[in-house]
Amino acid sequence: MDIMDTICFVGTGGGRMATITQLRKTAGIFLELKGARIYLDPGPGAIVHARAEKIPLEKIDCVLLSHKHIDHTNDAQVLIEAMTKGVREKKGILAAPKSTISAITKYHQSAPKKILKIKPGDKFNIGDLNIEATKTIHTDKDGVGFKFFASKKISYVGDTVYSKDIAKEHKGADILILNCLYLVNENKGKDVEFAKHMDLADAIKFAHDIKPKLCILQHFGMGMILKKPWEKAKEVEEATGVKTVAARDGQVFDVGDGVKKGKTGLERFA
Ligand SMILES: [Zn+2]
Repeated sequence: MDIMDTICFVGTGGGRMATITQLRKTAGIFLELKGARIYLDPGPGAIVHARAEKIPLEKIDCVLLSHKHIDHTNDAQVLIEAMTKGVREKKGILAAPKSTISAITKYHQSAPKKILKIKPGDKFNIGDLNIEATKTIHTDKDGVGFKFFASKKISYVGDTVYSKDIAKEHKGADILILNCLYLVNENKGKDVEFAKHMDLADAIKFAHDIKPKLCILQHFGMGMILKKPWEKAKEVEEATGVKTVAARDGQVFDVGDGVKKGKTGLERFA
């Protein structure tokens, strides 16, 4: 019996205004890759919408956080409680950069079996799934992106502006997930709090350099949400020749065969 590798965009919103208006959910991504169940960047609402999507939160292996901002971490603690069955069982992994781990209470840090403090370049694994952390250029200087070595190579670039070096780290990705927060980042290059976020022009550069088989845009701020992200995805595709889609809240992508499992018990007769 094959188990598919899947990516579920529980929510596709990001940034301050999408977070407080919830025009798109800020619930993060649930990945099932090579049998490992990972909840990535659970912003506000993750616990509610994950339940609505019937995601088996008691069975997750890892709460994975890319950086400390609220739209990526707000529900991390409650997910740690779900993963550890109400802090009754010491199980699972919390993996995050230094800045982000210190934003989690000591109580919740003590609940999982393992804490992984990650920085760019680190390689680690969740069960059979190998992961590599990549660098970002963001207001949380400890922030990271991730490469998941599943049946396909999946890159989550994280919150960052474009850079040639970062694009280089994600070369060879089959599926490229881009947090395209802005339509146009008017503060690009300026030394202000909101300058270090990806906009559509950055997304086009990343897709152009990395040339994945599929580019998925998500983590939309208001500017993107109000301008029909699916039409903006078409612009990326036209500019780069890379097949590009804008994820919808709750959308699941099957990315290939994850693990083969031998049939057991009565399944053998099915
Ligand atoms: Zn951020």
